[in-house]
Amino acid sequence: MQNTSLKPRVVTLGTAGGPRWWTGENAGRRSGIATAVVVGDAVYLVDAGTGVGNQLMKAGFSSGDLRGIFLTHLHSDHTIDLASLAIFGLFTLKPGQAPIRIIGPGDRGALPPASPRAAAPPQPLYPENPTPGTAGMFDHLMRAYATDLNDRVIDALRPSPLDHYVASDIQIPEGTGYHPNENPTPGGFAPFEIYRDEQVTVTATLVEHPPIAPAFAFRFDTVEGSVTISGDTAPCDNLVALARGTDLLLHEAIDFDWVETMYGSVGTEEAQASMDHHRRSHTSPAQAIELAERAGARTLALHHLVPGTTPLSVWLSHADGFSGTFLVPEDLDTISFARLPLEMAATR
Ligand SMILES: [Zn+2]
Ligand SMILES: [Zn+2]
Repeated sequence: MQNTSLKPRVVTLGTAGGPRWWTGENAGRRSGIATAVVVGDAVYLVDAGTGVGNQLMKAGFSSGDLRGIFLTHLHSDHTIDLASLAIFGLFTLKPGQAPIRIIGPGDRGALPPASPRAAAPPQPLYPENPTPGTAGMFDHLMRAYATDLNDRVIDALRPSPLDHYVASDIQIPEGTGYHPNENPTPGGFAPFEIYRDEQVTVTATLVEHPPIAPAFAFRFDTVEGSVTISGDTAPCDNLVALARGTDLLLHEAIDFDWVETMYGSVGTEEAQASMDHHRRSHTSPAQAIELAERAGARTLALHHLVPGTTPLSVWLSHADGFSGTFLVPEDLDTISFARLPLEMAATR
């Protein structure tokens, strides 16, 4: 009999999506996307959106509790506070703590094709290295702070982030047919293991979030339950396969009515390109419910809400459609994913 002391749960550190600070009514109510997966004393972070460090503290955790930081994809709304987490986090490490793993997509390997709406060929930034992966990104970030870090390491004898974080790129299995532009989500893709310790096994699949690739969804399995986190994706069969029978599915959601209002009447090619992107790359609440039903997820919680200021009532208006438990958590909510006993309600 396994003990039941792990209390597997997520804490929704930040529930807004999008590479911006949402303004207007409800501004600041939701921090950038970041989710703590808590299993016993261990905390695994999925994504590092704006405000993640503060939110981690408010939730009662610190970098001293972190075992890994998992990045679903390298859009800035998922990574923008990675440097602050790593550098400010040096002050709250625990003595003898194992290096914190940073695990995310590798180098894209090719630029995306230019939008057919472009009037002239857009020019890439940094053409010599235009698509760094997770390890490359972390290296660049630490180099950017070298003046500060060297002051502290040399004068104040502070620890080096290079000794306390280990960044690595997820290796996509060979022979799947994956290609960042031509086949970002191969059909029948088998979820594969990216991390394991004595408490969790983390598996990943490729999801549909063009033009970025690879984009991953992650599933954390423990002896007491599982949680699947969609990352950013349009409705995707690979996600359904990963989430099969999961206790909790955290799925992204976008308010397409807002997309229409925001971009539909502008009439410029840029606005049309933005609208195209949202339609190809994100999921409506109704679609998320359909996916959760297909996967047999017991609880569905919407997060990565775009826009981050949409009133709760808009998201909740879809609640009737799901046969399991449907949640739209606020920041800093705790949601159990323990399989037994059935704990279905979100609690503050
Ligand atoms: Zn996002
Ligand atoms: Zn994204």
